[in-house]
Amino acid sequence: MADGSQASLRSVRTTCPYCGVGCGVTAVPDGLGGATVTGDTEHPANFGRLCSKGSALGETLSPATRLLYPEIAGTRVDWDRATRHVASELQRVRQNYGPKAIAFYLSGQLLTEDYYVANKLAKGFIGTPHVDTNSRLCMASSVAGHKRAFGADVVPGCYDDLDTADLVVLVGSNTAWCHPVLYQRIQKARQTRGTKVVNIDPRRTATSEGADLQLSLAAGSDTCLWNGLLVWLAGQNLIDAGYISAHTEDFEPALALARERAGTISKVAFHTGLPAEDVQAFFELWGANPRVVSCYSQGVNQSIQGTDKVNAIINCHLATGRIAKPGMGPLSLTGQPNAMGGREVGGLANMLAAHMEFSPRERELVERFWKAPHLAEHEGLKAVALFDAIDRGEIKALWVIGSNPAVSMPRANATRAALSKLELLVVSEVVHANDTSAAATVKLPAHGWGEKDGTVTNSERCISRQRPFLTPAGDARPDWWILSRVAGHLGWGDAFNYRSAAGIFVEHAALSGFENTGERVFNIAGLADLSESAYDNLEPVQWPVLEPGRSTQRVFSDGQFATPSRRARFIAVARTLERNATSDAYPLLLNTGRIRDQWHTMTRTGLTARLSAHISEPFAEIHPTDAAAAGIEDGGLVRLETAHGAAVVKAVVTDRGLAGAVFAPIHWSAQNSSAGRIGALVHSAADPVSGQPDLKATPARASAVEAALSGFILSALELPILSHPDVVYWARSKNQTGTLTTFAIDGTFAVARSIIEACLPHGARLTMSDARVAGFRSAVLCDGRLEAIAFLGSPPNLQPGAWLKSMLMRDQLAPFERLALLAGELPNGAEDAGPIVCVCHQVGSRRIGEAIAAGCQSTEAVGLACSAGTNCGSCVPEINRMLSGYAVRAGAAKKQAVKI
Ligand code: SF4
Repeated sequence: MADGSQASLRSVRTTCPYCGVGCGVTAVPDGLGGATVTGDTEHPANFGRLCSKGSALGETLSPATRLLYPEIAGTRVDWDRATRHVASELQRVRQNYGPKAIAFYLSGQLLTEDYYVANKLAKGFIGTPHVDTNSRLCMASSVAGHKRAFGADVVPGCYDDLDTADLVVLVGSNTAWCHPVLYQRIQKARQTRGTKVVNIDPRRTATSEGADLQLSLAAGSDTCLWNGLLVWLAGQNLIDAGYISAHTEDFEPALALARERAGTISKVAFHTGLPAEDVQAFFELWGANPRVVSCYSQGVNQSIQGTDKVNAIINCHLATGRIAKPGMGPLSLTGQPNAMGGREVGGLANMLAAHMEFSPRERELVERFWKAPHLAEHEGLKAVALFDAIDRGEIKALWVIGSNPAVSMPRANATRAALSKLELLVVSEVVHANDTSAAATVKLPAHGWGEKDGTVTNSERCISRQRPFLTPAGDARPDWWILSRVAGHLGWGDAFNYRSAAGIFVEHAALSGFENTGERVFNIAGLADLSESAYDNLEPVQWPVLEPGRSTQRVFSDGQFATPSRRARFIAVARTLERNATSDAYPLLLNTGRIRDQWHTMTRTGLTARLSAHISEPFAEIHPTDAAAAGIEDGGLVRLETAHGAAVVKAVVTDRGLAGAVFAPIHWSAQNSSAGRIGALVHSAADPVSGQPDLKATPARASAVEAALSGFILSALELPILSHPDVVYWARSKNQTGTLTTFAIDGTFAVARSIIEACLPHGARLTMSDARVAGFRSAVLCDGRLEAIAFLGSPPNLQPGAWLKSMLMRDQLAPFERLALLAGELPNGAEDAGPIVCVCHQVGSRRIGEAIAAGCQSTEAVGLACSAGTNCGSCVPEINRMLSGYAVRAGAAKKQAVKI
């Protein structure tokens, strides 16, 4: 497929491109550029299940937003010209400033083969060590924690352990939304075999709905809790002295420091802010259940003490010998689909390749294997430091592949400004426009999902194939092909003479086994002789793979680790105070994260109306106490500010988070919101060991935003952005066949009306305007079809109902429908469904509420009544929350009735 040839219409088994669960999917192309996507029943990560994002993959394949041709300075060019230009510019920068003036910023979305070639070109041939990736923002602290404890970046366990554990502890992980298929697996074990679930997270999230114990601890106090557990286990004689003595080292210093910092339950309760009885209950659950799996994710990793948090968790597993055995062990849940594959090939600045680093021995080995003329001599700059170096002018050329750092990096405004200082910014991308490519000097169209051919590795070390099933859009090419062409123009064609992804994979596999006598755990030499067809047909396999066909489910089961002594290391972990404490100016802590139905900066999930139906606007969750103090109302607008930037988003006033904390999702960008880019607010403080930025605790303040008028525009075509100074907020999302823009304006009715009218397309108009009630409604019709409709008014949160949304889909409106347009509903119209909860069956909260009020007392009963929650299951936690809320309200009403 490297030449962009026509894909066939047969069904293809491939892998979901979103989260680190790495679900297998089966795609059947329709021959028109789309495909039907279902879960692969044979894939060991999901056995056929998909979450809402995976289920909607077939709706995100439109070529409408694709970058189709190479561009230099905005002008379309052919591939030869584009790759020659990139090569000559890289050569110029290298000659003028040296190789270290060149950097690469990669992505956990890339396939292993693309990652391998980028790393080889940069570190082996150009000679720059500055190759980092957005995976630095995702799991670098887990990598560092694994290396400190085990001597290698290895996840010891596997997903099967979740099926046999008696206790699953979720730490800093909204698993229900961010790893939904694993969450459903945990819930199934909970229902069928009584597995207990503890959720450790400052916020009550959808994950909490399926937990037996919720620990809403204070931000940054995780190490104290786990140190306390270590001390308690030792005090109760629940440690495994035999395992500690035979297979570990440095236990005593770790325990001594833990005793000093978290010696009693009351001390732990004080520092974590948890009720002492909850701390006790957690410790007792851990003590009573040898089969325990601790899953950790971004709430652990994205912290200035992320590595310490990881080691504090691992310490407890080592102390009890509960590691790498069925149903037991620490399990890092990777955010991205190929964060682990990127680590395997050295996609991080502090790694070389095949889990090797920059020691003289490993440098020499890689240099010899690659026949590399300019092997980088030392570690490069990690993400935050890399963009700082760009800002200082030390890096002159940057090649960004598959990432959008102008949105996702901490201090994203500073990142965006730094990009404009580069002499060369090459962006290899799938979409034509994003916040990063706006500054690009060269844009190169890369294969998207469905066109890509290669491998990814999920959170349980399972290597799976991503197989192509679509004809590539325009002139798009595989990332490895683009990199290899540039390498060829630079004179290194022999070393980059790849014909296919298979050729790259076997070279990567061979390097992993090259002079590896067991000191490097990452070894897939058993796959180094794969033929093209064997590679094509490769079944999911967990590394290490030492011999053909031999997968490894668990690593370190024999108690032999990858440290020089072969013993696992306890790490003495102090409870460091959060460096970035709040102040009078910034009294809140801003926590960032993901929502259920969107992925990263929405360049793909944002293309389907189904996934925008659940949450369509940027928002911030704020505690009622903080909201009241700032005059912020639920559903109103809130301005969030930090020392680095500001955002204006919708306020969700809720006590799900702790007072003093505010939560906002990361997905919105300048492409779909006026000021929803949360990365712009986040500070750049990073973990000193892993370099992973702290995206969970930026000092912030919140204030209410005044807006006299609000409204929406539904349009079949994308309309110009509302850029008038009186427009204090807008957000844009996909709506079935068109676009929904919601907005708020703080100005006079006359000015607001003129802003909206100027934005509407040409065509026959039906208009109603009444200045006395500040109401304006206008519909634009073309050949009997509704092209656009705008509502402007004074009530906050003016939103279109389902009927009005559906009118954009109609070829010809009936007369009675035309008459009802400006009312927004039919005179005898059914009540609106309310916000969509179940995106698969498009069931709104109102319908679910009716089912519950009619007597449904379980998710199964609700499913039978209205189908909600019966497909992918991603909405089940939310239905559970509605059920609990109803039960609480019913209980309160009963008490009230008794009193009366
Ligand atoms: Fe994709 Fe969802 Fe599976 Fe993650 S859980 S890999 S997003 S289908």
